[in-house]
Amino acid sequence: MTHLIFDSLTETPTIIATNRAKRTDQTGAVSSVVKGEDDGVCFFCRGNEHLTPPTLYQDADPWNVRVFRNKYPLMDDHEIVVHSSEHDKDIEDLEHESNVKIITAYLDRMSFYGSRDKEVMIFNNRGGKAGASILHPHSQIVAAKGFPGLIEKENNSALHYFNEHNRCYWCDEIQQARQDDRVVFESAFFAVTIPEACRWSYEIKLIPKNHKPNFGFIDQKEIHDLADVLKATLQSYNTLFNRPDRNFWIHTMRYEPYHWHMGFIPHIKVFGALELGAGIWVSDKATPQDAAIQLRETGVFNSIST
Ligand SMILES: [Zn+2]
Ligand SMILES: [Zn+2]
Repeated sequence: MTHLIFDSLTETPTIIATNRAKRTDQTGAVSSVVKGEDDGVCFFCRGNEHLTPPTLYQDADPWNVRVFRNKYPLMDDHEIVVHSSEHDKDIEDLEHESNVKIITAYLDRMSFYGSRDKEVMIFNNRGGKAGASILHPHSQIVAAKGFPGLIEKENNSALHYFNEHNRCYWCDEIQQARQDDRVVFESAFFAVTIPEACRWSYEIKLIPKNHKPNFGFIDQKEIHDLADVLKATLQSYNTLFNRPDRNFWIHTMRYEPYHWHMGFIPHIKVFGALELGAGIWVSDKATPQDAAIQLRETGVFNSIST
């Protein structure tokens, strides 16, 4: 099985997951893998359910969104959420209702793990550069009693911020992004922003305007708004960078003082020695303000009501 180890000096966590060496590689992400017997068959397409672990969730029969355990888990709880039965369509190509179904699947699994006192991270890798090995669009969910690394750090800093200011860090961050012209777009319920210290140019943070620690507390109006804002955010990358490999993730915790939010990164550069050798991120393609303007001017947000 996989296990977490920590660098004794920096406390940086690493998952040792050599069980994944044999997984199928359709994108070239996992160079050690030899493409084998399953070439040409998509495990994630409708009709091939027998090639994956059993269904944990499906929205309907036949399904549009299907969830099952990852055959090569990174953690004890590691699931795949297939976005739709269409092999070539991702969130930015799908209709509003289809994207609502994906979010609803996320929420179903959140509540499953929430009732077992586990924290959840939901993420999407697209393309070999972003760590994906299967082409059919999908997200992944991992659950654990807690996540070391960034999420834990964020939570500790947010607690510190709250104790000092008696305010939520992320609620204030929306205000700050407005003041600094780092807002790409605001819908009724969400602010799409570029972080001041963005790790890569065009990194995005999507922050809900209503303060809620847990993504699972989202209501129906917010779900419908998120479906549109999520789609447009991904489209803005596609327009600017010709459908890049990309990641997005949902950061959520069950308790205050957290404020759930989403992160997005387009893979328009690779890690250099400053990132890997010093842990210093280099954001050299656009200032946060210029990135906000360029992403807004793609026009993809125009159809969303504010
Ligand atoms: Zn497929
Ligand atoms: Zn807040």
